[in-house]
Amino acid sequence: MIKKVLVANRGEIAIRVMRSCREMGIQSVAVFSDADRTSMHVRYADKAYHIGASPSSESYLNIEKIIDVARRSGADAIHPGYGFLSENAAFADRCAAEGIIFIGPDGHSISSMGDKIMARKRMIEAGVPVVPGTTEPITDEKEAIEVIHKIGLPVMIKASAGGGGKGMRMVKDKNEIAAAIRGARSEAKTAFGDDAVYIEKYIESPHHIEFQILADKHGNVIHLFERECSVQRRHQKVIEETPSPLMTEKLRNEMGQHAVAAARAANYHGAGTIEFIVDDSHNYYFLEMNTRLQVEHPITERVVGVDLVKEQIKIAQGEVLQLRQEDLRQDGHAIECRIYAEDPTRNFMPSPGVVKHISEPLGLGVRHDGYVYEGYEIPIHYDPLISKLIVWSSTRQEAIERMKRALYAYKITGVKTSIPFLARIMDAEEFRGGNYNTHFIENNMEFLMDNKPCGDICEDIALIAAYIHYNNKLDAVTPLKNGATHTPNPWKEFGRRKEKTTF
Ligand code: ADP
Repeated sequence: MIKKVLVANRGEIAIRVMRSCREMGIQSVAVFSDADRTSMHVRYADKAYHIGASPSSESYLNIEKIIDVARRSGADAIHPGYGFLSENAAFADRCAAEGIIFIGPDGHSISSMGDKIMARKRMIEAGVPVVPGTTEPITDEKEAIEVIHKIGLPVMIKASAGGGGKGMRMVKDKNEIAAAIRGARSEAKTAFGDDAVYIEKYIESPHHIEFQILADKHGNVIHLFERECSVQRRHQKVIEETPSPLMTEKLRNEMGQHAVAAARAANYHGAGTIEFIVDDSHNYYFLEMNTRLQVEHPITERVVGVDLVKEQIKIAQGEVLQLRQEDLRQDGHAIECRIYAEDPTRNFMPSPGVVKHISEPLGLGVRHDGYVYEGYEIPIHYDPLISKLIVWSSTRQEAIERMKRALYAYKITGVKTSIPFLARIMDAEEFRGGNYNTHFIENNMEFLMDNKPCGDICEDIALIAAYIHYNNKLDAVTPLKNGATHTPNPWKEFGRRKEKTTF
């Protein structure tokens, strides 16, 4: 039985994992870099160890340092969270070699699914539909033209080692092929150290729908239904919801069965996600498998009623899955918004800095997975995710209204955030109607950027607030005749002056 878990991560996901550990009576060990000395995950853990300088290559990606802390702290397991070392086969293998339980699949499953070309081959063998395209890397233009001749334009040139939307190019015209291959290869080389690329047919009107799976070490595999992740910017998810508005019972059953088949084909154990691309006519194709906990896992937890981290831990310590497919149900509707420290008005530029004030939304059906507190400095070194706001309600309509209410109540100052942009999405007709695809953000940019959350009344409120502030300052510096300073009661003073004031 696992007694102590080292969480090889930071921020909200580290705390998320530690919370489940605490409920299971398991001790948690945090690791932290220079930039994270005052981070909340360090305070939350039972023990915390410094592992190096701020750049992740010297801390959160440094296998030796993390293994060393695991040994020194007596941790018997490591949870990698998402990102960093979570899909690093060498790390999983190293843990196994050290006799430390890696809370995730084994290195072989990670590497076979991490290489997208290899994963495509496996899925074809297992009878899972994949996007039409190549099953070998493409090196030159001539080869690419032959493939495109067969599958037709438009196509996607994609990095085999890809992730986070990097190393991907869409090609609409034959003349763009050579440049797209060159561009995708060099981006892939820089980002992943591997320049292998392949070609996929571009699926028109694409919906990104993924299935959560759980598999134990005894051959039991189940799925926990879908997540709709088509609200994307530059191929990166912004909002996720479950159930998917596109889904029918028939499609759900078919895709669910294929998701289970995909996990079996990967010899998988742990929690994983099978991503599919789906067109308007409900044709669906395997895109990739993520061999870790996803950022958006809380919406599944809420609707299915399962703690995925606890399931991961139980599977890792060899327990038999107690959940049975036929007992699982989707209850109500959940939506997640990713709150980033970024400035939507400046092309979503990251906005690191000191958080001056933060008040998180509360109330019925609201979950807030965050780590930021007042006075905390969001570091420049890592992903600028502040938190994930998750709401649940019995209907989609009510969940949207609840998310609007929660986003409105969410106040952060000191750094710019994506909150106003997300609030605007809740008002967008296509989103509200549930008939959107991955082009939603780019097609609605003008509407989404026109975001005065409380309409014109905002300006009036701002004017009044500025006036009160101005008056207070005037009073504060006005000396009295006897030389003392006058400390005004701003409300009384404002009330007295009101008759004389015209706005
Ligand atoms: P990554 O691993 O970099 O996240 P994915 O293969 O998961 O890359 O694709 C990310 C997103 O890119 C998808 O959710 C989808 O919006 C878009 N995409 C990828 N492949 C295709 C395709 N063949 N047709 C249309 N859109 C695609």
